[in-house]
Amino acid sequence: MGPIFSHSRISSFENCPKQFEFRYIQKIERDSESIEAFVGKRVHEVLERLYLFAGRGMLPGIEKVVDRYHKLWEESYDAERVRVVREGATVGFYRALGERCVRGYYVRHYPFDEGETLGLEQRVLFPLDEAGQYRMQGVIDRISRARDGVIEVHDYKTGARVPAQRILDEDRQLALYQLGLARQFGEDTPFRLVWHYVAKDVTRISTRSPEALDGLRRATIARIDEIRTATEFAPRKSALCSWCEYREICPAFADALPPHPKSSATVAVDAKSAVAPDTAPAASPSASPSASPSPSASPSASPAVPPDAVPDGPEAAVSPADEVRQLRLL
Ligand code: SF4
Repeated sequence: MGPIFSHSRISSFENCPKQFEFRYIQKIERDSESIEAFVGKRVHEVLERLYLFAGRGMLPGIEKVVDRYHKLWEESYDAERVRVVREGATVGFYRALGERCVRGYYVRHYPFDEGETLGLEQRVLFPLDEAGQYRMQGVIDRISRARDGVIEVHDYKTGARVPAQRILDEDRQLALYQLGLARQFGEDTPFRLVWHYVAKDVTRISTRSPEALDGLRRATIARIDEIRTATEFAPRKSALCSWCEYREICPAFADALPPHPKSSATVAVDAKSAVAPDTAPAASPSASPSASPSPSASPSASPAVPPDAVPDGPEAAVSPADEVRQLRLL
């Protein structure tokens, strides 16, 4: 039986087959991450803890939550490991951005009684086919039962870009999670897919028909077949290369480029379009510059990655180890 696939794994292949080869076939580990991914992880962690405590009837005040965010930052931040790519952007800017995300989310959702939380950072593992030849896994930020009884699949996004509704209506990631959860809750269970763009304080919702889900399932199987039968993994240069942890060893950059930036080092990316809430949007790490993206690909699976694209949240440069984030208890 082959490897278990995930949205991140498939997106890596779609974005750049060479990156996929480095990460999932050669399994080359890189001890670094982008600061966008770092901020996203801290925001995810603090929201997870917030809901954990809210579920116990011990809802913390906003300042305590913000303090927790900064404590998590200080415990985790390593200037040697966390890369700032955007020219002119500072670590302080990103730290403040994360705080704004946390504050904005808290104010918008207080007192956190919109539904019953059923799962936090919950792993799902499910087959796409009856024979179990196409297995998928993922980690869902939050699962809840809304007041109207609908099961909601929540995802936090810390990037600045909010995709158009029509793009979200074709999103692969959360719809795949719905496929997995339907096995748990029942095929006839109504679901709602909810994205929280916390840097922009915007919430987006999508629902899927059974036909759409089946189309997604088939398209994902076809993509997995494509990956399994691939024999060449050509580099695919794009704006996302600035955030790629394999750039130093990538043949596409063999000729000339300076060493890959570490920490405060920079590359030629316009700082004016950094992930400030009021500046240019950010592309998801799953943005696909592929010339032939799946119709059911990620909302960010656009063939045209803007030059100011940045990875989006903790999915950015997802390592296999990151694919299953562990529930941290206070
Ligand atoms: S640097 Fe760019 S082309 Fe090279 S592996 Fe990374 S994403 Fe692909």
